[in-house]
Amino acid sequence: MGKPRRRSADRPSSHVPLDVITVPDDTVLYVRFLGPWDGILTHYGKRRPIACPGPDECDKPTHRGKGIWRGYAPVEYYRDRPYEDWCAAVLQISERLVECLGTDELRGQVWELSRVIGRYGKKECTGTRMEDVDPEGLRLDVSIYEVVERMYRPVEPLWGVKPYFKPVSTLAPTKGAPPRALVERKEREGTARPAGAADMDRLRAARGGMLGTKTGENGKQETNGVH
Ligand SMILES: [Zn+2]
Repeated sequence: MGKPRRRSADRPSSHVPLDVITVPDDTVLYVRFLGPWDGILTHYGKRRPIACPGPDECDKPTHRGKGIWRGYAPVEYYRDRPYEDWCAAVLQISERLVECLGTDELRGQVWELSRVIGRYGKKECTGTRMEDVDPEGLRLDVSIYEVVERMYRPVEPLWGVKPYFKPVSTLAPTKGAPPRALVERKEREGTARPAGAADMDRLRAARGGMLGTKTGENGKQETNGVH
């Protein structure tokens, strides 16, 4: 067995194939963007997603089915092993990540990308802009088109598709005391059943008693549901 070979400082690391990368599930990926993203539509395929060649050329039943938008951008990702270097790649981008990336010119932006549990319990891509580097010093030889088209061969995807993700805002509720009118009504009614109690009984029966009731601290019956 020979000695492990070491790269001398002045020798460039060996070439790596230009490939599509995705945001990993279990670790953080650092990328610096070399240019803007471009998008295509894909459809569900038996084994893998099928690129959409556009509404005119696409198989009609397939095109009517659900489409998934995918974006691709030229990047360099950081490797700390085997060498500390930046590898050229084509980054696959989800609609969710596009939302994070914003509308600025991406070239020169350094991002930390990862996956977090999203609002549907599924892992979603997220990213944070960490710093900006001088775009003048970045390479210009990474093109996404050839790489992506090779991936979806033989179908040639229609480029220029914008994501159709609907922006949704979610805000945390504000904790606070009930309105005085409600407190007063409860006091007036004492232990009387609240409005809608009959409806809750019906709902409870329909769900096989899943909602249940519990006895509150003050001895009143409380419903484990939304009033
Ligand atoms: Zn289609």
